[in-house]
Amino acid sequence: MTLATEVAVVGAGIVGLAHAWSAAERGHRVTVFERADRAQGASIRNFGMIWPIGQPTGDLHEMALESRHRWLRVAESAGIWVNPCGSIHLAHRTDEFDVLQEFHERAESPGLGSLGFKCSWLTPEQVLDRSPAVNPQGLLGGLFSPTEMCVNPRVAIHQLPRWLAEIFGVRCEFQTQITNIESGRLVSSDGRRWEADRIVICSGSDFETLLPSAFHESGMKRCKLQMLKTCVQGNGWRIGPHLASGLTLRHYRNFEVCSALNALQRRIAEETPELDRFGIHVMMSQNEAGEVVLGDSHEYGSQIEPFDKVEIDDLILRELKKVMQLPDWTIAQRWNGIYAKHPTNAWFECEPTPNVHVCTGLGGSGMTMSFGLAEHCWRRWDP
Ligand SMILES: Cc1cc2nc3c(=O)[nH]c(=O)nc-3n(C[C@H](O)[C@H](O)[C@H](O)COP(=O)(O)OP(=O)(O)OC[C@H]3O[C@@H](n4cnc5c(N)ncnc54)[C@H](O)[C@@H]3O)c2cc1C
Repeated sequence: MTLATEVAVVGAGIVGLAHAWSAAERGHRVTVFERADRAQGASIRNFGMIWPIGQPTGDLHEMALESRHRWLRVAESAGIWVNPCGSIHLAHRTDEFDVLQEFHERAESPGLGSLGFKCSWLTPEQVLDRSPAVNPQGLLGGLFSPTEMCVNPRVAIHQLPRWLAEIFGVRCEFQTQITNIESGRLVSSDGRRWEADRIVICSGSDFETLLPSAFHESGMKRCKLQMLKTCVQGNGWRIGPHLASGLTLRHYRNFEVCSALNALQRRIAEETPELDRFGIHVMMSQNEAGEVVLGDSHEYGSQIEPFDKVEIDDLILRELKKVMQLPDWTIAQRWNGIYAKHPTNAWFECEPTPNVHVCTGLGGSGMTMSFGLAEHCWRRWDP
């Protein structure tokens, strides 16, 4: 028997769910297929940082802000916990201070040269007023941005399919691996078949199961990240905004416009090459329960081993403790996550046959960008 749906989405990670929402809002009958009994990929393993400040100025930053707006909408409607906490990038070294000052000066400067970011410079005292989790020793100041938010991915990614089903009648077929797509039909591992007018493949870092040649030609890579989480901090203690150290300035593309960045990159490469080797920069977010999520590292392609490296966790903790402080550093959990990343583009999209779309490869920005990206796609497919 062949079943029918208008829009079929493969993958119930954040990218697939974002597409399901955008399609359902346009009145389509949507079915989401997920091979596991609940999503277990990158979308539940991340910091839960909605991080518009990390996007380069222009279209991508706008897309992140649209995504942020949609997060707020869905959070209110679905009862998803979201904390519009903002973020602080910390400067404990003069080269970090220089990059952040340069970015701040250009962020909202009048005229054509403005980067279009809202942020403010904080003195060391002002940083410490906003966050008790900052190590005051050597602190030179920080850049506050109000646009970042925190969600708890482990909870939100499981709330979203229920909300989509309840509000829009989206059907979620869990424990259903799609093994083949041929002439507008999906075939699942249990032998069922579906006909769909449009198929959107959001299979995350699985490049082998569906359309392996399209993925092979794309040049996409996998990236493995190691993460840690502390126990619940006592007495309702909160970090305040998300925190990022000066190491993060070399990670997100928004800072690439700063001429002072080269000196910072050189200093880190000379002083602590082990951080470059494992792609380490350090950040902190805190969920509603009070646990603090810590990370991270980046190992690409053939560097990836199934086994986690104790050395990486130790380096992450060493760097965090230089610039941040917690009442309780007891580590309650360690894990890794793997995402797909396109070598040059902010995401990977292709249409191997008419009305069959692949959409993945958002790298470290999927939580931030997916709702905006799905809208960008659906405005084209169904204006
Ligand atoms: C450790 C870590 C920290 C991160 N931190 C952040 C952050 O703070 N902020 C941010 O914006 N981004 C962050 N990211 C990036 C973000 O998590 C990813 O970009 C995003 O989750 C990718 O979503 P996805 O839907 O493409 O992939 P996934 O979440 O991996 O989902 C893909 C889904 O497709 C399913 N699937 C695959 N093939 C099939 C098939 N054939 N049939 C049925 N189902 C299939 C899989 O089971 C899986 O559930 C982080 C990533 C990691 C790993």
